[in-house]
Amino acid sequence: MTKMQQPSFIYLYDGGKTKSLNVKEIAISLRKRLRKAKVEIREDFIPKENFLETTARELASIKISDIKKKDTFLEPLPVEINYEKRRLMDSGHKAAGILYDGFRMLSIFAKLIPKIESNFNYCHIIFTNQLFGTWDENDLRYHARVAVFGFPSIISTTGVVEAPAKPREFYLKRQMGMNFLALKEEFKGRFIDYDDSRLTEVMKGYSLQALLFHMTGDPFCKDKNCRLYNAHWQEEVIHAQLKSEYELCNFHEKILTKTIIR
Ligand SMILES: [Zn+2]
Repeated sequence: MTKMQQPSFIYLYDGGKTKSLNVKEIAISLRKRLRKAKVEIREDFIPKENFLETTARELASIKISDIKKKDTFLEPLPVEINYEKRRLMDSGHKAAGILYDGFRMLSIFAKLIPKIESNFNYCHIIFTNQLFGTWDENDLRYHARVAVFGFPSIISTTGVVEAPAKPREFYLKRQMGMNFLALKEEFKGRFIDYDDSRLTEVMKGYSLQALLFHMTGDPFCKDKNCRLYNAHWQEEVIHAQLKSEYELCNFHEKILTKTIIR
C-alpha cells in the first residue's frame, strides 16, 4: 500500500518571518521521528524571476474581499499586483492583514514546485506569515485557518494567532467594551500571540498534521490529547500541542513513528 508510505524527502520552507518560529528545531524533531526521510530546510517559498510577475498577479487575484461571499474575487489593480511583487521579493515583509483563499493559494504554489519533486515521495511544507481562509459550508462564510493541507501544505504563523478562537470570556468582555490590549494582558498565556515563545513547539504539531495528510489524506485525530487534534479554540491548541501528557495517540504513534518502518 503506497498511501501509508512515508515520503523520502520533506522540505520545510522557512517563510514564517517571525523570530519565534525556529524551523531548524522542527526539522530536528521530524528527523527524530522519521528515520527514513531526509528533512531539509529551504528558504521562503518564492518563485523564480520568470514566474514572479505571474505569481504576483495570481496572489493579488485570490484576496477575499467579502468573507460572506464565496468565490467572488475582484480583478486585481496594478497597485495590488505590485504590492505582491514587492512582498515576494522582500524576505522580511510583514503580513498586511490580507485574507487569501487558502486552497487557491495552495494551487498557485503547487505550480511552482519543480516537476521532479511533484510526487508523493516529496512532502513540501510551506511556512508563511500570510493569512488565508477557507469557505465554510455550515455558516456560509470564510474562516481564517492555521493550515491548508495538500500538495504542498501551507501553515500560517499569522493564522495560528488569528484563526483558533480565544476563550469565550475574552469575546464577552470585548463586547462589553473592554480595551483590547488590557484583555490580551488578562488572558495572556491562554492563546498563542504574535512572537509567542511557544510557536515553534505548536508548529511541530501542525507539521505532523501536514505529514499525516500527505501519507493518509486525513490530517486529524479525534483525541484532544493528540497533536493531530483539529483544534478550533486556542485553549485546545495549547492543550494538544503543549500540555498533553503524550504527543500522539497510539494509533498515530504507530503511523508516524520511526519504530514501525520496515
Ligand atoms: Zn491521534
